[in-house]
Amino acid sequence: MAPSRPRVVVIGAGFAGMHCVRRLRNAAVDVTLVDRSTSHVFQPLLYQCATGLLSEGAISSPIRHLTRRQRNLDVVLGEAADIDVETREVVVDRLDRSSFRLPYDYLVVGTGMRTAYRGNDQFAKYAPGMKTLDDALTIRRKIMAAFEMAETITDPEEQRSWLTFAIAGGGPTGVELAGQIRELATRALEREYDAIDPAHARVLLLHGGDRVLPSFNVRLSASAQRTLDDLGVETHLGVHVTDVGDDYVETTRKADKHKDRYPARTTLWTTGVEAVPFAATLATALGVEQDRAGRISVEADLSVPGHPEVFVAGDMMAYKDLAGVAEVAMQGGHHVGRVIAESAGGQQERSPFKYRDLGTAAYIARRRAIVQSGRFQMSGFPGWVAWGVIHIAFLAGIRNRLGTVMTWGATLLTDSRRERAIIYGDTETARTPYARREAK
Ligand SMILES: Cc1cc2nc3c(=O)[nH]c(=O)nc-3n(C[C@H](O)[C@H](O)[C@H](O)COP(=O)(O)OP(=O)(O)OC[C@H]3O[C@@H](n4cnc5c(N)ncnc54)[C@H](O)[C@@H]3O)c2cc1C
Repeated sequence: MAPSRPRVVVIGAGFAGMHCVRRLRNAAVDVTLVDRSTSHVFQPLLYQCATGLLSEGAISSPIRHLTRRQRNLDVVLGEAADIDVETREVVVDRLDRSSFRLPYDYLVVGTGMRTAYRGNDQFAKYAPGMKTLDDALTIRRKIMAAFEMAETITDPEEQRSWLTFAIAGGGPTGVELAGQIRELATRALEREYDAIDPAHARVLLLHGGDRVLPSFNVRLSASAQRTLDDLGVETHLGVHVTDVGDDYVETTRKADKHKDRYPARTTLWTTGVEAVPFAATLATALGVEQDRAGRISVEADLSVPGHPEVFVAGDMMAYKDLAGVAEVAMQGGHHVGRVIAESAGGQQERSPFKYRDLGTAAYIARRRAIVQSGRFQMSGFPGWVAWGVIHIAFLAGIRNRLGTVMTWGATLLTDSRRERAIIYGDTETARTPYARREAK
């Protein structure tokens, strides 16, 4: 009887997981890819989905469709809930919470990070983060509902609070969201309301550091700030968000602890991430430590110390201070796939992971983006073109690429945004005042 092939279980169909399974396509292994979602999501464009520019279908691709030609791969919809290190099995919860076990010879974990509120979990109710497709759709509903609410509210102060959007965090996600909300208000919605002028929407960008986009160099960060100022985004530096409620956000200045309270019906949280809960389950099962953000340290081949059959890749791995960006996840996933393929082929030695920094990019406004790769940097229109090419190149699937280019083109020509459907009573945001009115 022929010896059975090694079984590889990959948990997470993000950039790390997808690049790992792709590298294993021709390897003599049987692969099972487990994700709690049916789709691979292109997180770098979540903010365009959240602001009505792109549909959720444009930035996500069904995992089964993406992998349909890979003959050594099974896809499983389920949530990895536990690991049995002794029997080498992953316990997976189905949609109905019944569970089953998947045996493995190699295990790859790329389950990513989630929004962190750092001891202020009560903020989550009022200030959604943006890590998943659900988050983006929640934010979209909140934003669209806020303009609709403002249209029929006659009290000027209350109306103003519906037209105030606060964003905690001045990193790429915060900056991109702030810019997009101003563009939505000043371009797409400009002539569509009667009682309000959407262009009066106030966007507060609240950031703890002394400049936005601290991961970019000072010149690019300053260029981004000028664009934000031109757009009408109100940037507050050196402040922490210390309280959020249904209709307000409070900041505390780092320098002198001075507090400011802004009436705002929409607060969005883009500051801070932590490993998803499965990281703690994995760490406990394997008897290893997590860092402050919950990530798991790995060896040079990206395996977990003491467990050469278990690998962690992507945002959830802690390795040489590498940032949680798509390129690290893609290259890390690819490397793990290669190590497993070579081990399955009988190779004893494992090659170390070498990250090639291809740079980062951030969209600030239409025709303006910044790109940084080593000493090379670009801003303004050239940066925007480079940003567009990079994002289209990494979107999964020809259909999503073509659809996105067409939508961007149409939005550039007409300013319109089509992805704005919300249903009456669909949001917490809208429900509160209606309930109050009915109670009167
Ligand atoms: C809004 C936003 C904008 C970004 N912009 C950029 C950018 O411009 N450039 C850049 O380089 N990077 C950007 N990033 C970062 C980049 O998207 C991440 O570094 C990358 O997605 C990490 O890939 P990953 O595979 O580690 O995890 P993820 O892509 O997060 O994938 C994790 C997968 O694991 C699944 N999962 C989680 N828990 C379980 C479980 N228990 N069981 C089964 N499945 C599970 C999830 O459903 C998900 O599919 C951005 C991120 C966000 C959120």
